[in-house]
Amino acid sequence: MSGRRPFVGGNWKMNTDLASGEALARTVGAECVPGLGSLDVVVFPPFPYLQSVGGALQGSAIELGAQDLSSEANGALTGEVSAEMLMDLGVAWVLVGHSERRHRLGESEALVEEKLTMALESGLSAVLCVGETLEQRRAGRAHEIVRHQLTSALHRLSADFAREIVIAYEPVWAIGTGVAATASDAREAHHEIREFMSSRYDSELASGVRIVYGGSLVPGNAKTIFAELGVDGGLVGGASLKAGDFLSICSAATIGIAAG
Ligand code: PEP
Repeated sequence: MSGRRPFVGGNWKMNTDLASGEALARTVGAECVPGLGSLDVVVFPPFPYLQSVGGALQGSAIELGAQDLSSEANGALTGEVSAEMLMDLGVAWVLVGHSERRHRLGESEALVEEKLTMALESGLSAVLCVGETLEQRRAGRAHEIVRHQLTSALHRLSADFAREIVIAYEPVWAIGTGVAATASDAREAHHEIREFMSSRYDSELASGVRIVYGGSLVPGNAKTIFAELGVDGGLVGGASLKAGDFLSICSAATIGIAAG
């Protein structure tokens, strides 16, 4: 085994309502009880449901995550949500740089870097999402794009913070499309990311940092992808809205993670 603890995140995006979000949290929380599995499981509900979903997860081993945060600590920023506010609600994790925020909401590399720094300096754990578009992949630029995103996001991040982040490799063309990356594409991308971390920091940090795959993960492909060298779990969108599918992806992560 790699020694890295598997990680599975459920990104609910702008889905569920108060009642269905609570019910989903209760159902998955009832199966993920403390001591049952040696993996980190985090769900990322919409902002307005954080508190109630957090309540529904009480007593379970699932941690609470937020889908975004402000790059600023506080102030006149209508509609923004700060790291402190998230932590007040019991949030432990936050997604940074999700492709929907980068590509649909125009979030820049600079803003991703500021948000990542803010999250970590405030005491939140962060999942940094990176990944290329289909056009970039077709142009043979996938690795270059991911390296560029990492260079920018990590350019002032200390090794102490960097070793704690989870990096989610999420090819944009695989997100919500039903077309997951092949297991070998995922392995290659994860290898490139680990190589990048080794050159940016050092080989010890690179071999300890967790890199997970995201993009159309379902119970039917999770085991194969998680069995690839260097894949430490997954970030799950659509399938995280179905308790049974999410739980079966979690169990694939506990048994399927390969060494690397
Ligand atoms: C995501 O939003 O991070 C994601 C991976 O979505 P999906 O699983 O639906 O492709």
